[in-house]
Formats: sequence, C-alpha cells, structure tokens
Amino acid sequence: MSTNSTSESRELVETPDLNGAYPRLDEAGIAALAPLGRRRRVQPEEVLFREGDRECQFFVVLAGKVASVEGHGTPEERVISVHGRGRFLGELSLLTGEGSYYTAVAVNEGEVLAVPASRLRELVARDQGIGDLILRAYLIRRSILIGLGAGLRIIGSRYSPDARRVRDFAARNRLPYRWLDLDGDPGAEALLAQFGVAPQDTPIVILHARVLRNPSNAELAAAAGLPAPSSSPARCDLLVVGSGPGGMSAAVYGASEGLRSMVLDGTATGGQAGTSARIENYLGFPSGISGAELAERAMLQARKFGAEFVVPAEAASIEKDGGQYLVRLADGSPVTATSVVIATGARYRRLDVPQLDHFEKMSVYYAASQAEALLCAGDPVAIVGGGNSAGQAAVFLSAHATEVTLIVREGDLGEHMSRYLVDRITRIPNVHVMTSTEVRELHGEAALEAVTVTDNRTGTRRTIDARALFVFIGMAPCTGWLGGLVDLDDHGFVRTGPGSDGAERSLLETSQPGIFAVGDVRAGSAKRVATAVGEGAMAVRLAFERTRPT
Ligand SMILES: Cc1cc2nc3c(=O)[nH]c(=O)nc-3n(C[C@H](O)[C@H](O)[C@H](O)COP(=O)(O)OP(=O)(O)OC[C@H]3O[C@@H](n4cnc5c(N)ncnc54)[C@H](O)[C@@H]3O)c2cc1C
Repeated sequence: MSTNSTSESRELVETPDLNGAYPRLDEAGIAALAPLGRRRRVQPEEVLFREGDRECQFFVVLAGKVASVEGHGTPEERVISVHGRGRFLGELSLLTGEGSYYTAVAVNEGEVLAVPASRLRELVARDQGIGDLILRAYLIRRSILIGLGAGLRIIGSRYSPDARRVRDFAARNRLPYRWLDLDGDPGAEALLAQFGVAPQDTPIVILHARVLRNPSNAELAAAAGLPAPSSSPARCDLLVVGSGPGGMSAAVYGASEGLRSMVLDGTATGGQAGTSARIENYLGFPSGISGAELAERAMLQARKFGAEFVVPAEAASIEKDGGQYLVRLADGSPVTATSVVIATGARYRRLDVPQLDHFEKMSVYYAASQAEALLCAGDPVAIVGGGNSAGQAAVFLSAHATEVTLIVREGDLGEHMSRYLVDRITRIPNVHVMTSTEVRELHGEAALEAVTVTDNRTGTRRTIDARALFVFIGMAPCTGWLGGLVDLDDHGFVRTGPGSDGAERSLLETSQPGIFAVGDVRAGSAKRVATAVGEGAMAVRLAFERTRPT
C-alpha cells in the first residue's frame, strides 16, 4: 500500500479469510458489540492505531476498508491485510498488552465501531460465541505474523551466541520477528547503517522504531510488553515456578479459587508443550492443538482469574522464612509465598558428541516450532530421538525441510513412540528413519553441513547432509535452584508422597510441607501434557487446605 496515494489505496482488495484468521461478523454480532463501543466516521489515510501502541481500541469496520500496515510511512512499508465491512482489526497483542506490530490505516472514507481494549478482554473472557471467534482469529493472526516475519527485526551474526539467545527468546515467547543475518543477508548491513550501528555492536533488535543493542531477555520482554512484575511487594498465597501445562493449570485453579497466585518462568510461558507443533492426545481436541495455542489460551485464562505472570523470571534459590517460603530470582529479587508449586519441568539432554558447543550457536535446536521451521526451510535436517517429541518434529518439519533423517538409537521405531506417529512417519516420503543408529560427528565450518552416524548393529558409518540438527533425547529435570531443600531421587527429579521416613504426605507434596511438585519435574510422573495439567489442579486443592486466600 502506498498510503500517500489515495487512488492507489482504493484499489486494495480485501484479504481472503485464511483458516478463520479474518472472519466477518454478521449483523447480530455487530449489534452485540455496538453497546460496548462508539461508532465514528473515518477519513482516507486516517490512522486508527500505530505500530508500538499499547492498549489500542478494538475496531470493527462498518463501512469502507482498513489496512494493517507494517512500517507505515517508511520505505519498507508492507500491507499485511485489508478488511472491509464486518471484519475486526488487531491481533493477539490487544489481549496480552504487547505493543501493536502494525499500524491500522483507513483505506477510504468509512465508519468503524471503536471498543475499549478492557471491554474486549471482558468479552473474550465471558462470551463463548463472539469472544471465542475473536480469540481464535487472533491466535491464527499471530501465527500469520510469525510466518511473514513481521514485527521485530533481529540483526546479528549467525555465529553470535547473543544473537541466538535473542532469537530463541523471541521464538519461545511467540514474538513475531524477522532475522537478518550479517553474514548472509546483504540488506542487514544497510539497515545497520541506517540506524547508525556498527557491526561489532550487534545483535540489535529493532522494535517499534526503537533500537535495542544486545538486549537482555528482560529488556526485550519489557520493550515488547510481556507481563512484568507489579510494583507491589512480591508476596502471594501460591507461587508457581514454571509455566508449562502443570504450572498454568495450578495458576488457573489457584487464582480461580481466590488464592493470590503468581507464576514465574525463566524463559517463556508454555514450557515444553509450547514448543510442540501439534498435541494430538490432549482431551477435547480431536484434531489436535498447537502447543503455542494451548499456552496462549491457558495464560489468558489464568490472567482472567487474576494470576500474575512474570516472564522472564528465573527462580535461583528457595529457603524457609518462618512459616513461609522465600524464593529468590536470578536478578536477586525476592518473592514470599505460603505455598509453592514446583512446575519447572525438564529439558532435553545434550548429545555427547564433539564440537556440539560450537554448532549449538546456530545449527542445533531443542524445539521444533514454527520459528525453527522457518530457519531451516528448504534445507535437509536431522532429528535425534525415538520418542513422541522426535516423531512430532519429524512430521512437522517434513513440510518445511527438503529431507528429514530421523536417527533413533532403538532397533524399532515403535519402542518409545506412539503408534499413530509411527504410522504417519512411515507414510511421509521425505522422512527417512535410521534405527539402531547414533550420531558420532558433526561437520561444517561455522554452520552444520552434515552428521556422521554409526549403525550399532553393523558398525557401518554414514555421513548425511544436514543443515540443522534437532535433539530430543532423555530429559534432565530443572531442579538445580532447589538447593537441597526438598528430597530428590537419584536422577534429580523431585520426590513426592509418603517417603521412606514414614512421614504422612499427600501424593504431590514434597519433603517440605506446603511445597508441591507437579508435571515432568516430579519423580515418577507420566511426562504428558494431560498429567501435568491434572497434577497442577490437584496441587492447588492440597495447597488450598494449607493456605486461606489473603
Ligand atoms: C516437542 C515436544 C512435543 C511434545 N508433545 C507432546 C504431546 O503431543 N502430548 C503430550 O502429552 N506431551 C507432549 N510433550 C511432553 C509435554 O510437553 C510435557 O510432558 C509437559 O510440557 C510437561 O509440563 P510441565 O508443566 O511439567 O513442564 P514443562 O512443560 O517442562 O515447563 C516447565 C517450565 O518451567 C520453566 N523453568 C524451568 N526452570 C525454571 C526456573 N528455575 N525458574 C523459572 N522457570 C523455570 C521452563 O522455562 C518451562 O517453561 C511434548 C514435549 C515436547 C518437547
């Protein structure tokens, strides 16, 4: 769109509805929204909200057309979508409080209904019809923005660990971004010059026309508008550490029961589940649900009941403090709570192979979400692991990579993988399964080019082309921060329930009264989304008996 030229603007055609991203409200829907807002006329080129604005209004187009434009008024201006009568504007940031990733500009003279963001949030929280239609559209719009590489621009060297950290943080938090590689993208240096930044000062993030130089995760989170701690003293009834499915569930049930609930996560909401392309065995979603959507929905639900989220906030230690617990974050700030739910899950172990450190900077991944798929589109990739996560990654990446080699140590793919995934994988022509096989060497200069594997039955070595390596092998629990306060098993998972000391404890209670463990971090847990969710809810019931709402 050239918004400087009204005649050109008028020619803009409405964007088709992509899988429910741009539904049209019918007359009844518009009538239901009308009492919440105000109708007003708009003029051609009028800006309804700008890139970077927070707390924008929710607009329904009643007449004319409105375009969503990235980089409005700059040489890089790009039209994301165009909407006519009955369409509504905005995307997920309107519900989460992030700054808008684009500007909404009236294409021609028309009329809109403007609804305050707070009333929209109330509507989404209570209305099963329109509320759910809007939420679903906003979740899909966020995926479209991620796919388009709209939003943040991250500029840096592919060999820089900080550039990788910033990209990972954006990807895990589902912040849409475009990656400009100083070592491969001719436009990257020109853009740096435009902002007066020297290559040695990278990585930089350009967000809402602001330049952040090598921002910490906390700085990036604050600039993007991710949930920040309130200024009130950090004291709560229920402190949930970790916001995967177990922690989210504890937050939803804790807050809805009236407990003052706070949730910390060191990286991003959603945990491991948030990195899953499609979860197919979670009750109530017969066609599956993406981990990102499950995480966004759960966070909105927990916030609706009043749970407070702080991201990124890594718990570094825990100690007793009278009848309470004191958790200190990595930045030193304290949080005091009557009950604590440990929901810190587990992380994939690293491969024991030479030069892993080197290739981890840019070619080794421990998640396979849309962000990773974009980075390896059109390349051959290898996946290591024989469980469901590796299987799901193979199915998902097969639609983006040219060839996918699945390297499995077991002799039979079905040994640890669900049957439905095995069946699906065997039907995908560009997925090649190597059983009884292990990775021995990684090859390439700065970036990965190939991996050498050995067949454990025959000792035969083979080298396979791979520009990216996805690792989904055994899990290591995230329990280092507990510092010995609660009992762990021999593998570092948190023990719960009646112990060998004969003490009476409920199923999810640790060796410390009032500290519970749920989900993958708990010794003997089933390592599934549904069990983590169930345990999160159950821990709240147990915590409630000890904690009365303040
Ligand atoms: C790619 C993939 C696909 C999967 N697919 C499925 C599936 O289809 N079906 C299924 O049932 N299961 C699936 N799983 C497993 C499922 O995701 C996990 O069992 C589930 O996420 C466990 O939930 P959790 O809440 O216990 O912990 P996690 O999801 O591991 O979340 C833990 C959270 O704690 C945070 N954290 C860790 N340490 C700290 C700290 N010190 N301070 C603050 N925060 C911290 C982490 O950042 C993380 O966000 C999959 C897993 C992966 C990786």
